[in-house]
Order: sequence, then structure tokens, then C-alpha cells
Amino acid sequence: MKLPAIAIDDRTTVMTEPMLECRMDNHQWRRLSETPVSTTRSGVVTGLEVVRGCSRCETMRTDVYNTKSYELLSRKYKHGEGYLIKTNGAGKLHVEDYRAAFYTRT
Ligand SMILES: [Zn+2]
Repeated sequence: MKLPAIAIDDRTTVMTEPMLECRMDNHQWRRLSETPVSTTRSGVVTGLEVVRGCSRCETMRTDVYNTKSYELLSRKYKHGEGYLIKTNGAGKLHVEDYRAAFYTRT
């Protein structure tokens, strides 16, 4: 029996295999640094900046927590070239699109 042809979204072609894996299964974070920071203008240490890197793709994540409540104050991501989809409008695909691209890539 022949399987039906699968349409692979061409927006995944610039993504590396690790990027497709992270898009399918989430990132594999490891903690890189923890730095006390000031989150106010007073200069008093009131926060903790935690930098994490993905051990699979090149994504970096920087979180800042309030050190009294441990509330997340900010989160920033930095991705490798090709991770983000540069289109007008739909910038995100369904997980099935990443899976199809990953498992049919030769
Ligand atoms: Zn990743």
C-alpha cells in the first residue's frame, strides 16, 4: 500500500533538524547563569536574572524574577537564524507541520 503524499510546508525548509525537534517537543533547557539584578531605579538588588540555553538548538532564554515573590517579571528569547518564521500574518505552524517536515526530511 502506498502512503498518500504529505504536503510539507516550505517554511520549515530553513529550519535545522534540532530546530524542528524543539518545535515538536519543546526546548531542552540548561541553566547557564544566575545574576542578581536591580529591577527598580534604586539600584538595590531586587531580582534575579537567569539565562538558559537550549542544549539542542541555539535558543537562549533570559528570565528575570522578583526575589521576594519569585514572580516572573520578564522573559526574552533569542533564536538562531531560521527558527522564527518570517511571514506576514501566520508566523506559527501546527506541531504536525514540524513533525511532517522532520520525519520526511532526507
Ligand atoms: Zn531548542
